[in-house]
Amino acid sequence: MKVYAITDIGRMRPINEDSYYAPLEGERFCAVADGMGGHNAGEVASAMAVQVFSEQMRKAERITAETLHSAVERANEAVYQQALENEGMSGMGTTFSALAEEGDTAYLAHVGDSRIYLVRRGAIMQVTTDHTLVEQMVQKGLITPREARVHPKRNIITRALGTEETVQIDIVQMGLCPGDAFFLCSDGMTNYVDEREILRTALSERDWQDKLKHLVSIALENGGADNITALFAVYEEADGQ
Ligand code: CA
Repeated sequence: MKVYAITDIGRMRPINEDSYYAPLEGERFCAVADGMGGHNAGEVASAMAVQVFSEQMRKAERITAETLHSAVERANEAVYQQALENEGMSGMGTTFSALAEEGDTAYLAHVGDSRIYLVRRGAIMQVTTDHTLVEQMVQKGLITPREARVHPKRNIITRALGTEETVQIDIVQMGLCPGDAFFLCSDGMTNYVDEREILRTALSERDWQDKLKHLVSIALENGGADNITALFAVYEEADGQ
């Protein structure tokens, strides 16, 4: 798995509350976190989640759904504890979307409204479900996905990491195909760039880092009112050997 990453503060926010983890040599996991909470607490929450998660994953001899799940649980506990002990950080939390690879299997962990997409054989699909109020409304048939994109309550998330003692984590396991490219991103990307554009860019001739730069430039052009973070994790057959 080769991972490319980019983050941009955007045009409006005074600080960047997104964090990400890109693997060091020999590691096979990555993550995106989008923090929330006043007085820079969001920045602390996302950075801490990513740090604790990566420490836990590094200790794992073999990646399984369980090791991924427990690494995210530990990150939740750490952020929650930090918020309890620091008055200014009370209630802070973060989204958390992570991808790990073991052999020809990918494991995904997800909480909140950051997203993971998979680009495979010329098509794109979102492989995480947003934990948002509008997504629940879409599931119930109350609004359409198109209405959800512009709904005044579209920013309300129904699950976050660090806001409670325990957290419900979505875990997905899937087989990998050579050439698979996962796209992990914060909502500062998906609120301004639709998935057709992500697909078009992923399939273009640019190199992967340049693709990320291009997508960030579109998010900025289309408003860029939020922090923007995105990763491409590209699986090549040799990785699984
Ligand atoms: Ca955001």
